[in-house]
Amino acid sequence: MEIEIIAVGGYNEVGRNMTAVRCGKEIVIFDMGLRLDQIVVHEDAEIESMNALDLIKIKAIPDDTLLNGIDGSVKAIVCSHGHLDHIGAVPKIAHRYNAPIISTPYTTELIRQQIAGEQKSAVNNKLLALKAGQRYTLSQDLVLEFVRTQHSIIDTVTPVLHTPHGAIVYALDFKFDRTPVIGEPPDFARLRQIGKEGVLALIVESTNIDRRGRCPSERIARDLVRDTITSYEDDKNALIVSTFSSHIARIKTIAECAHEIGRKPVLLGRSMEKYSVTAEQMKLVSFPETTSVFGNRRTVDRTLRRMMKDGKDKFLPIVTGHQGEPGSILTRMATGDTPYQLGPGDKVIFSANVIPSPMNTGQRYMVDARLGLSGVRVFEDLHVSGHAYREDHFELVQLLCPQHIVPAHGNLKMTAAYTQFAGEMGYTPHSTVHLVGNGQRIRIN
Ligand SMILES: [Zn+2]
Repeated sequence: MEIEIIAVGGYNEVGRNMTAVRCGKEIVIFDMGLRLDQIVVHEDAEIESMNALDLIKIKAIPDDTLLNGIDGSVKAIVCSHGHLDHIGAVPKIAHRYNAPIISTPYTTELIRQQIAGEQKSAVNNKLLALKAGQRYTLSQDLVLEFVRTQHSIIDTVTPVLHTPHGAIVYALDFKFDRTPVIGEPPDFARLRQIGKEGVLALIVESTNIDRRGRCPSERIARDLVRDTITSYEDDKNALIVSTFSSHIARIKTIAECAHEIGRKPVLLGRSMEKYSVTAEQMKLVSFPETTSVFGNRRTVDRTLRRMMKDGKDKFLPIVTGHQGEPGSILTRMATGDTPYQLGPGDKVIFSANVIPSPMNTGQRYMVDARLGLSGVRVFEDLHVSGHAYREDHFELVQLLCPQHIVPAHGNLKMTAAYTQFAGEMGYTPHSTVHLVGNGQRIRIN
């Protein structure tokens, strides 16, 4: 049986991830992601009402038209976790394949919501929820397994495709967090066992390969956040925290710290509402009972007005806008475009890094400058990454001992750095470690 890995998206950039694996005449697709900065660059782009070909043209979603020329039928679309760069293109292109979409329960619910909001295409693929640790038989030759891992969104797994020639492990995205804030550590024992059974190929993220050492645990971020928030226990000024709306573990930490110092946590923004309410309804997280959530702009502004009236010191707003996104709540607060007035002594805490792109850097600069003009004290980088560092990658390769490695989830600088790293571990470029770009295909047996 011929086995081929087809790099569809996410190999020339960070975003719009998609990889297809062909085993004989059967194809399994991993992820269908969006590249958000391409949407924002084309400011007039309204994704829900755009069709797939236009989105492919602006490089916002993977160019899956290359699969048209491949002889085989798609058996499954597998999504590893709920970040938009992994599931965001599902509503646009999944309907072209007569195959179920398989993901963990939380990811499945996020995909279901995305499909419900789609205006352009009718997506009728069956949604199949598979839990970490479970297996699913795709065909006589192919079995899918979800191995538990950790990342910056809950219910992330490492999908493993068992083929007659060995396992194909799709390790994006992951971090080896041994003391996570939500959920269990990665299933190291199972990874080691899969390594013993035989791994034909490892498809792996390369985003943080140039960062030495290990990625710090989410426990470290919890300490950073707690250390800062609890030191303002008696403060009468505003305390506002901005973080990733999909980072449920971080939001839980922030809400608990607010509760600890006697402030009510208030989650504000549509995306904050989406991820948190979904997680809470699925009983994957519990926030302090004083927590409230407001999504749409009208209720957000009403809540901000109420906080001004009742006293800023009684609340801790958790808001979107850490990248300085225009129209986000924090940006609107900073520009005085809400009923919530910021003034000297108020504090804004960024529990996030600035995702390095010229646009983000510029937009964040503007927000920081505005906050500074109002006399606001700014706290930065109370954050740890959700992506494996170099020594985590070293451990993964040692656990799995794959015959072939395909670095993914990165621009050429990142995938090339991974190739060099693999070279240092004894892999040979073009032979056992494969540096590929979008649209390239490699036969691995
Ligand atoms: Zn991710």
